[in-house]
Amino acid sequence: MVDIGDPPIPQTTSPLVNMSAEEARKNTIVVVMIGLALCAGGWWLWQHQNGFWAVVLGVLGVGLVVASFGPKTLVAACPFCGARMSGFLQNNKSDGKQTQCPKCYEYSVVSGKTLRALDPASSSQGTGFETPVFKDGIWPRACVACGASPTRFDDLTKRNVNALALVLGRVILVKGTLSGVPYCDQHRDALELKVTQSKKMLLEWRSLRMMRRYVAANRSRQPA
Ligand SMILES: [Zn+2]
Ligand SMILES: [Zn+2]
Repeated sequence: MVDIGDPPIPQTTSPLVNMSAEEARKNTIVVVMIGLALCAGGWWLWQHQNGFWAVVLGVLGVGLVVASFGPKTLVAACPFCGARMSGFLQNNKSDGKQTQCPKCYEYSVVSGKTLRALDPASSSQGTGFETPVFKDGIWPRACVACGASPTRFDDLTKRNVNALALVLGRVILVKGTLSGVPYCDQHRDALELKVTQSKKMLLEWRSLRMMRRYVAANRSRQPA
């Protein structure tokens, strides 16, 4: 366990900008290729008397080809680490959207035409904030729900683990890592282990503040 404070929150914002022309062109080509591949699949099915799926694939394929020439999504630099983040919609349609940096795991929020760091003080509690489970990860010496001095150390129990994790048996692998979760007298079960379809293991936090401390404490470690 480690004593660690709240990492600073950058005050800088980064603008949402268009992809470079080069990138937009690559993006268009990839989408067109997928669209054409679907159309080819549809044509093959049509020849083999599978009319329904032929039409489904054909419609999807044509839709993709058409969409590839439409407006592109926007990109921005992560306010924390500068990594590139993509997939923001044009015309302020992503306004208010919370988004996580794939590199540093910090959360940011879209506000107008900019991306700014999400401040734990202003973020609503109750929604989940996700981090990887770090290999040989360590816990900050603080309740995972509120940051108070821990009085108890719990193990993740079955009810903190999603069904898929149990089925895949991945939990056994990380049992050592996920024991000794620090809690104060007031809190329990504030942390959940999830396994995604792609078999990635995630911790879901209710407190963004404590999530950030966990990430900071394990900055040099790799996801398990
Ligand atoms: Zn980042
Ligand atoms: Zn607590």
